[in-house]
Amino acid sequence: MHLNAHAFAGAAIYATAARLDPASAPVMGAAAIAAFGSHFVLDKVGEPRWSRAQHTLFDGAFMALFAALVAASWQDYGKFMLLGALLANIPDIWDKKFYLSILDPERWPAFDDFFCHRKGYESIKPTASVTVLLSVLLYAGTLVVVVA
Ligand SMILES: [Zn+2]
Repeated sequence: MHLNAHAFAGAAIYATAARLDPASAPVMGAAAIAAFGSHFVLDKVGEPRWSRAQHTLFDGAFMALFAALVAASWQDYGKFMLLGALLANIPDIWDKKFYLSILDPERWPAFDDFFCHRKGYESIKPTASVTVLLSVLLYAGTLVVVVA
């Protein structure tokens, strides 16, 4: 699953907890675990067969929207969204070596330390439209959490 989908899911989870009770360690701790755990759920959904440029454009466009939302809501939930997004992307940050393995897989080959990155873990191969729709829905969910 793409960087942006993980970021939106983690941000929505962690910002929801911040809306409930940001001073509660159990609430924020459970949200941190849920944000991290969302990675393994979303990685069940694979990625369409796009070129590297298409993947980069897709992630770049949606992450620009995410950055705008984080900046716009920084005073209230922006920092929680950012932390949730980071938590939800930890397995990819590690296994993809801070995404260097995507830029140049020959020079920086990816790890498969997290089980969700091993062959056979994905069980859904989405089309391009389903991939975009999923990101739109996750972004909308994040928007609802911080704006509503
Ligand atoms: Zn992953």
